[in-house]
Amino acid sequence: MNTLTLPTYADVTAAAARLQGHAHKTPILTSRTVNEAFGAEVFFKCENLQRMGAFKFRGAFNALSRFDERQRRTGVVAFSSGNHAQAVALSARLLGIPATIVMPHDAPAAKLAATRGYGGQVVVYDRYKEDREQIGSDLASRQGMTLIPPYDHPDVIAGQGTAAKELFEEVGALDALFVCLGGGGLLAGSALSTRALAPGCRLYGVEPEAGNDGQQSFRSGTIVHIDTPQTIADGAQTQHLGNYTFPIIRRDVDDVLTATDAQLVECMRFAASRMKLVIEPTGCLGFAAARQMKDQLKGQRIGILISGGNVDMPRFCSLLAA
Ligand SMILES: *Cc1c(COP(=O)(O)O)cnc(C)c1O
Repeated sequence: MNTLTLPTYADVTAAAARLQGHAHKTPILTSRTVNEAFGAEVFFKCENLQRMGAFKFRGAFNALSRFDERQRRTGVVAFSSGNHAQAVALSARLLGIPATIVMPHDAPAAKLAATRGYGGQVVVYDRYKEDREQIGSDLASRQGMTLIPPYDHPDVIAGQGTAAKELFEEVGALDALFVCLGGGGLLAGSALSTRALAPGCRLYGVEPEAGNDGQQSFRSGTIVHIDTPQTIADGAQTQHLGNYTFPIIRRDVDDVLTATDAQLVECMRFAASRMKLVIEPTGCLGFAAARQMKDQLKGQRIGILISGGNVDMPRFCSLLAA
């Protein structure tokens, strides 16, 4: 594992140049109500307003932009039922690369449709009977496709780091930054930008309380594996950090915090009613943790990375109604 070459901030700046004109430079919003409640100045980096509705477009587009001639011809394959699928499908279409997305047969119809709508060829498998690793390695080895994982890849990490880069470039240094954590692509990328642009800023990863493998890994110093956690934060139902993301997180992050599903719903409700923002449950992790420790943030400048906004409206409404 020591032989892995970890991405650096130079890779983030190279990614930013590739994304120029393709990814949105997402808005940074403030709320007087939040500032008063926190007694602090709070900046929300709104990746729910990114193309396809989440920051994952940044990492996928950056990774696919680096394909050589042969890879462009044979295409990309990704496994995902969530935002990574749509990010790879959209990036591939924009770059003229064939994309195959392997999704479980019981993935929400809206997600299957969205992925097809972006031009991805969807291969469904039965998650109870078939082995997706097998399907993937067949596609990769027999057909020569390139597999792009959702978080554990240097180009994906570098791409995700461009969101925090934009935040610091627009608002200047911050005292603390809160970032949603699943497999750690967004947090590791944010860490590279934070240490380069705001070295004194405290950086927190935030994951669902029901799946705190990242917290256990961060505190113990080895990657801890868990069963798929039960949480409404479906973008952070990962079972472990990655071989690239973990060493960066361990080196550059100050702590890993958690939020409960109930806290996520409170933040979704607040964001919808007061800020007119639709945020998916996972996207509220950073906000929820910052709110929990607001008494320690008084008088400071705080960044909160809102990671995505892809949630079916009926589900959104039933979560808020409960
Ligand atoms: C994927 C995802 C995350 C987690 O990102 P990682 O890079 O896996 O840590 C958080 N929020 C949303 C909306 C996502 O799609």
